[in-house]
Amino acid sequence: MITTRSESLRPLQFLTPCPPLPYGRGGTKGERRSLTRTPGPTTRLVVVALLLLAHLPATAQVTAIRAGRLIDPETGTMSTNQVILVQDRKFTAVGPNVTIPQDATVIDLSQLTVLPGLVDSHNHLSLTYKEMPENNFYYLTYVMDSSPLRAIQAVSNGIQMLSAGFTIVRDLGNNGNYTDTALRQAIEQGWVPGPTIINSGIIIGGAGGQFWPTPEMAVDHNIVYPEYLDADTPDEIVKAVRKNALFGARVIKICVDCKPWGYSVDDMKLFISEAAKIGLKVAGHVQTVEGARRAIEAGIWSIEHDRGLNDELHKLMAQKGIFRAGTETPISLTGHTTQTRYQATVAGLKNAYDNKVLITYSTDADYYVPGKTRGQVAIEFIETWKAAGIPAPAILKAMTTTGYKITTLEQTRGPIKAGLWADLIGVPGNPLQNIDALRDVQFVMKDGAVFKRNGVMTPESYFHGGPVYGWNLR
Ligand SMILES: [Zn+2]
Repeated sequence: MITTRSESLRPLQFLTPCPPLPYGRGGTKGERRSLTRTPGPTTRLVVVALLLLAHLPATAQVTAIRAGRLIDPETGTMSTNQVILVQDRKFTAVGPNVTIPQDATVIDLSQLTVLPGLVDSHNHLSLTYKEMPENNFYYLTYVMDSSPLRAIQAVSNGIQMLSAGFTIVRDLGNNGNYTDTALRQAIEQGWVPGPTIINSGIIIGGAGGQFWPTPEMAVDHNIVYPEYLDADTPDEIVKAVRKNALFGARVIKICVDCKPWGYSVDDMKLFISEAAKIGLKVAGHVQTVEGARRAIEAGIWSIEHDRGLNDELHKLMAQKGIFRAGTETPISLTGHTTQTRYQATVAGLKNAYDNKVLITYSTDADYYVPGKTRGQVAIEFIETWKAAGIPAPAILKAMTTTGYKITTLEQTRGPIKAGLWADLIGVPGNPLQNIDALRDVQFVMKDGAVFKRNGVMTPESYFHGGPVYGWNLR
């Protein structure tokens, strides 16, 4: 279902329907005469080849990165003095003895540790609730901030996330009227820089979503939309999944138990089978133990938030290979969790790790913390992981390898491997020893271009006056 970006050969499509040429025995006398002036098949081939060449880009520039240290988060190992070649926005070679072509642009990162980009597996880039004027109360945010304003916020938040080293963000709803799709398209088409976005479109829930609106607001003013799509019956479930797919979702997000009745195991199986027809996975917002139990039984792809999870359910998740996006808010983000809640979160994360659950790094960082960028807020969540006693290599794996898997991108993007999209970051320290090294991202490459160098964003090459990578279908 995921449409890849148009390749540079796309303009050739316009050359292919050649006009029929008047040759062959069936032609009239006049046509045969004209044939003598028409180039023969060989000449025509040469002409077509020249035309094709004229439309091909000049040989793409090779970029060579000299990496002082290179981390493979999958194995938790580090190698030294590596060369990484990039061409046409993808990695083409990685290793210690790779020859650097003479005309290559060389980027010297010999003083840095290079590693694959980070993943935030749960964020809302088009949502920013704030102390003022809405008292950090997101129910008001969507009433006060228009979808267009939120789309602009999303672009800014995406840039801030990329600057902090997050090259992939799973953007899970509460994004107004499909602003998450617009953000993804804008990045994919080449208008603005940003992480690769795996977006959910509108969260699907039973009537009311996560809100408890008054009857007059819900019924007379349809106030729940576009934060939530109501789907209470099997027909509505199918329709809602298809609507999100139509409007550009790359994952389906559902509210498993936002209301006491919630979705049944059969409801969720229907979500999963309908989404699978379109190649999408289902992420479930879960807040109760019973909701989590039903979601796990139904075989959901990922459980969002940690409130409903316990030792027994973690064991089941590990058995069934269900991802955990626990959104573990650190106590250092004052006002966004409580001491009691934080202690439960830390204990739950430790238990999930001990049970070998597929744990991902996820933040739900959809609020404004004065003095911090959205990326800095997201990286602050490593505090919870450290408090849970999880070793740095395992934290890094949750932020990379497992993130590539939950987003279903691992075959095309993430690892620094020939053939994959060229995303990587560089930090001075060694995050395998000290995860706090990730707080100081000095270098970011996204899709083969340099986005940040020496700690300064240099995004010029990402801004274009047109859709340089083509107008994608949603
Ligand atoms: Zn969320």
